[in-house]
Amino acid sequence: MQSEMMLTDKHGRDIHDLRISITDRCNYKCVYCRSGNDGPAFPEMPIADYLRMVRVFVGLGITKVRLTGGEPLLRRGLVEMVQELGRMKTINGSPLDIALTTNGHLLADLAQPLADAGLSRVTVSMDAVDEERFARITRVPNAHKRVLAGVRAAQRAGLNPVKVNCVLLRGFNDDQIAAFGRFARVEGVVVRFIEFMPLEEDRVWSPEIVVTLDEILSRMAEFMPLREIEHQPSETARRYWFEDGVGEIGIIAPVSHPFCGHCSRIRVTSDGKIRTCLFSVREHDLAGPMASGASDEDMAEFIMQAVDQKEARHHIGEAGFIPASRTMVHIGG
Ligand code: SAM
Repeated sequence: MQSEMMLTDKHGRDIHDLRISITDRCNYKCVYCRSGNDGPAFPEMPIADYLRMVRVFVGLGITKVRLTGGEPLLRRGLVEMVQELGRMKTINGSPLDIALTTNGHLLADLAQPLADAGLSRVTVSMDAVDEERFARITRVPNAHKRVLAGVRAAQRAGLNPVKVNCVLLRGFNDDQIAAFGRFARVEGVVVRFIEFMPLEEDRVWSPEIVVTLDEILSRMAEFMPLREIEHQPSETARRYWFEDGVGEIGIIAPVSHPFCGHCSRIRVTSDGKIRTCLFSVREHDLAGPMASGASDEDMAEFIMQAVDQKEARHHIGEAGFIPASRTMVHIGG
């Protein structure tokens, strides 16, 4: 490893995980994420511009790239983009780990082409197992079947283990916990619950609405007892098997068990702004210098300076919490 090339922030964290939003558009209006009235707010760049940025990041030690949005499957040229990413090598000479987060609505047709193009893994967001509840959350009728078909197509395409992410909101879909346990076992997917963070357009977040890791664990144990899988401190998800060894679930608990001290992430928005934290209140405009003729070396220097300013931690739930300058759908989760 050329350690001098690694991106390291002033808190000593190595940054090797890049999340890049390739569109601000989304075809769902999930109630806990979007207002339902607001559309895309930020432009998207040509795919070639994202690829150039990724190349510079990879030259600085990024080993994993996750494509997200908005809804990344809406972006024309995605398969070709994954093909290009598949040709890149990390500074160690290994293939890049290429992941995608999607709502799964268009995945049934795209899973195989994406796998053939070199996609390593896919995470599908799905916040209810029950069809009617799913429609209420996404505000899109009859979408559940399509997402399920997408999950299964991803499995057939070999993108295993497929992860299914669920954000729980008290009084809204927290009655789905056991159903998700069953779903993980029957479908052979890893279901991961993510604690709800204050990153929504409608600003409905309150500590009471968050279903915490401890609560999910105890409610899942009523369905079937769990055994924790040993994990590295740097892993964001706590992982569990059901006691009979069939079915894995994970819990990502940024609110009740923050993991900022191990954060290895950096984000680029659809319009080419670097965000060093989900909760950043300022961004670093990489697209600007790139459009005005910056060299790869200039861009690398800009990225290193941005990373150096990465926030120590988030302040969710604390007095004086300042909301992030963008909501989740416009950042890229
Ligand atoms: N459209 C894609 C999708 O649905 O996965 C990618 C973008 S979406 C913003 C990425 C993830 O962020 C989804 O899993 C969504 O559930 C999650 N998310 C959105 N708002 C959130 C919030 N306030 N707290 C936690 N997760 C959130």
